[in-house]
Amino acid sequence: MKKGCYNPVERAADIETVVCRGGLRKYYRFRPARFYGGIATGDCLGCCLRCLFCWSWDNVIRADQRGVFHSPEQV
Ligand code: SF4
Repeated sequence: MKKGCYNPVERAADIETVVCRGGLRKYYRFRPARFYGGIATGDCLGCCLRCLFCWSWDNVIRADQRGVFHSPEQV
């Protein structure tokens, strides 16, 4: 692999060990939004990319220090 590059598939496997625990998944917030007449959004952790324009960088690189595990039923 070229220096400075990374393998997103390998990173996804790594991040899965941080943000998935059995049937639970890590989320860092739940919030309402006005789109489509009103929606509820659950923001989960576990992005395997590293976009230069990322608006959520701290959550991307510190997924191990952020969020709480929730079951699908809780979400
Ligand atoms: S912008 Fe941030 S959260 Fe979105 S895909 Fe890129 S790195 Fe992941």
